[in-house]
Amino acid sequence: MTQSPSTALHDLGVHDLAQALAARQVSAVELARHFLDRATASTHADLGAFVAINPEVTLAQARAADARIANGTAGVLEGVPIAHKDIFVTQDFPTTAGSRMLSGYRSPFDATVVAKLAAAGAVTLGKLNCDEFAMGSSNENTAVPAVGHSVVEPVRNPWDTARVPGGSSGGSAAAVAARLSPAATGTDTGGSIRQPAAFCGITGIKPTYGRASRYGMVAFASSLDQAGAMAHSAHDCALLLSALCGPDPDRDSTSLDVPAQDFCANLNDSIEGLRIGLPQEFFSDGVASDVRSAIDVALRELEKLGARLVPIRLPRTELSIPVYYIIAPAEASSNLSRFDGVKFGHRARDYADLADMYRKTRAEGFGDEVKRRIMIGTYVLSHGYYDAYYLQAQKIRRMIADDFQEAFKSCDVIAGPVAPTVAWKIGAHKDPLADYLADIFTLPASLAGLPGMSVPVGFGAGNMPVGMQLIGNYLQEARLLNVAHRLQQVTDFHLQNPQGV
Ligand code: GLN
Repeated sequence: MTQSPSTALHDLGVHDLAQALAARQVSAVELARHFLDRATASTHADLGAFVAINPEVTLAQARAADARIANGTAGVLEGVPIAHKDIFVTQDFPTTAGSRMLSGYRSPFDATVVAKLAAAGAVTLGKLNCDEFAMGSSNENTAVPAVGHSVVEPVRNPWDTARVPGGSSGGSAAAVAARLSPAATGTDTGGSIRQPAAFCGITGIKPTYGRASRYGMVAFASSLDQAGAMAHSAHDCALLLSALCGPDPDRDSTSLDVPAQDFCANLNDSIEGLRIGLPQEFFSDGVASDVRSAIDVALRELEKLGARLVPIRLPRTELSIPVYYIIAPAEASSNLSRFDGVKFGHRARDYADLADMYRKTRAEGFGDEVKRRIMIGTYVLSHGYYDAYYLQAQKIRRMIADDFQEAFKSCDVIAGPVAPTVAWKIGAHKDPLADYLADIFTLPASLAGLPGMSVPVGFGAGNMPVGMQLIGNYLQEARLLNVAHRLQQVTDFHLQNPQGV
């Protein structure tokens, strides 16, 4: 362990815990108990991060991990507790995707990402709150009561409980920030790992589209959905990502035929001479000055480490909002047609005939944001509008991807803000458009299928965390993690704790 002996167990990250477990300084059962107790303590439960906990299952997994440590068959994450965004299906815990539609649903199998982390030895602490079907930027769209809550409430940001944790992986970000879990899985369709990581002061990475299997991830927009890791540090993210990525040809036809990689191997590489591209469009008047100054300081640190800052252009940045909010709802309207009251979860109690059953089930089961997107998606795919909206959006999507390739001719990594502001107050965005507009800096990399991450770089208004985004070219996750790790060796924002947790 690198920390002093007085460091509390829950302040340790994945790397340190794995070492402590392997050295038998702590057992997996002790760790599981410690984190379960923390997650269910009333002040922590008030955050609303967890939607399912099952101590029996967790402790059984922990005992099995201890046995493997004892008999020398331990995996790299053996005994390390993690929690999963409730969008990954799990056999041993219910899966709701934040929706009433899936109440009572139990998957007969584990998502590939869940299975891969379990195969590496990780112990599942429970399932984490999220926006319904991952649609949202604040976690206010959840329709599921959290553990210890009798009614549905938004997840709270541990740095200021009057503020949102970001979304859609808000439960994951809040749990890691409050030290209720050393790490968590998340999914990112248009920013849902990077933005909540930024809002809660943790590190998060979304790999290249296709690097992690989508099998068992409840589908939102299939050409964009991607799983990733959320933890305290880039090092911890690298450990998780190494375990969860890899081809899955039999189960996800879009998974890339690229072998699993050890993302820890290049963490310490020098960044001397690295060209960091700063898109003019990401440093516009639309970025709050507190966010801007924290990022400027981090960029200067990177310069001191030998990186060179080069101005670049991503000229279609603004178009990523209308393009994403056509393509994502279009795919969602198709994906969500499977929730019809027959195959999964909720079914209306009283209905006249089959069509009435479908109608009532969907009216009762889906929340407002999901319905809004199904309607938009159905509209843009309908005859007469398909060419004008959907096809046009696909063409611009290609141009956005081409803009990145042009930019990567003059830089190795791109840096900028994750979001225009720090986390806003719960209830502040009355109009859904306000949420959509705040996605402006995360959507371009999603549309292009590029890897992106968020690294804590300081504090802004209200002492809320600020995240810096790093975007790499395809399959350059190791480079991003390397840059983030070098930065985290000279800064300590990722080690800071919200007050009172
Ligand atoms: N905020 C975006 C949306 O609402 C992104 C969500 C996500 O990445 N899952 O669609």
